[in-house]
Amino acid sequence: MKLSLRVEDVKESITLTVNEQINKLAKGGQHIYNLTAGQLPFKPSSEFIHIISTQLNFLKSYQYSPVRGFPDLTSKIKTHIEKKRGVSFDDVEGDYSVIVSNGSKQSLYNVFGSILNPSDEVILLTPYWVSYPEMIKFWGGEPKVVGSNAFDRFMPHIDEIRKAVTKKTKAIIVNSPNNPAGIHYDDAWMKDFAVFLKEHPDLIVVSDEVYSEISYYDPKPSFFYQFDRSLLAQTVIVDGISKSFASTGLRVGFCIAQKPLIDAMAKIQSQTTSGASSLIQKSLIEFDFDNLENFLDPVKAQLRECAEIVRENFRIVNLSHCWYQTTSAFYYFIDFSRMPVSENYSKDKDYSIEIVKDILDQTGVALVPGAAFGFPNSARMSMTLEVAPFTEAMERLTAFLAGKKQ
Ligand code: PMP
Repeated sequence: MKLSLRVEDVKESITLTVNEQINKLAKGGQHIYNLTAGQLPFKPSSEFIHIISTQLNFLKSYQYSPVRGFPDLTSKIKTHIEKKRGVSFDDVEGDYSVIVSNGSKQSLYNVFGSILNPSDEVILLTPYWVSYPEMIKFWGGEPKVVGSNAFDRFMPHIDEIRKAVTKKTKAIIVNSPNNPAGIHYDDAWMKDFAVFLKEHPDLIVVSDEVYSEISYYDPKPSFFYQFDRSLLAQTVIVDGISKSFASTGLRVGFCIAQKPLIDAMAKIQSQTTSGASSLIQKSLIEFDFDNLENFLDPVKAQLRECAEIVRENFRIVNLSHCWYQTTSAFYYFIDFSRMPVSENYSKDKDYSIEIVKDILDQTGVALVPGAAFGFPNSARMSMTLEVAPFTEAMERLTAFLAGKKQ
């Protein structure tokens, strides 16, 4: 059977390869510290679970939902975003609208489908979330990558972004708080970015804010449009319940932007999946979003503790100069290049897949190679294990990182 060129071009997820190796080792009896997860290992808040169960008797909880989402929910989302970000869409020019999708991944996919023509360029900032380049290519666009480095806590230089803009640049994606870096870009960065955007009023900014609620050290995340509200006119805000409600499997995400874009996204959604789960949407209408803070408090306390364990273990093996402070989302991003262990690998090519395999073999710690995030010689580590096994995992991992072959 001949498959389409389009699908042949889509890369398979690198995590699948890592998972194969994990399963093989686990079958052989090795204990695995699995730090590859892209989700919180907690159940959603008990209030939310209760509300879902109370929706089960209503006919409308089982029937098609409107393509863009139930109006009570879309208006609630708009108010929620305005409150959380401290902005008002009524105060800026343009008509803004919300769409609820089957996960924020679908919102992002539909955004690119609605804005990209063949060979339009989209600027990505490394390290980036694994699905962006594939989605862009799927719709015929071209990813244009701007790098960052660990010294700057993975915040790319605005001048590098400026240099990457060409006549073909259609959009830029900003993901802060960031997967996989576990940081949010600071206020100074956001202010400079706002200045840059004023120079490019036709550039669409896709602001992926799915980790906005998960920030465990002050100062809290800020967003470029807070420094100049008029930038909302060229912004697409993407958010969802996967991370903030610890509900990745319920598949609800949303997006707010100017109405013509949302109308275009609704066309794609109407001819593909239709509206998102009616049961979960009805439950979200009932749920008091203010409860999220209480729900997330213990999650953040655990993340703070894990972040502290990372710092302490890096210090013990004399790798403090390679450490940086994470603040948000639930990841730590390891750049191997200045660590003693890097001497065991050839610098001629990206060794992230090779080193992650060795780490798994020799320590039982499973990571996601940096190749998945457009960042060579690095790996993503999730800080979502319980504190005791996480401490063990860090001891094993840092001993490996500090080691050289004799
Ligand atoms: N953006 C980022 C940065 C993510 O990490 C994820 C999930 N890992 C998503 C979007 C998609 O989230 P979902 O479709 O579950 O809402």
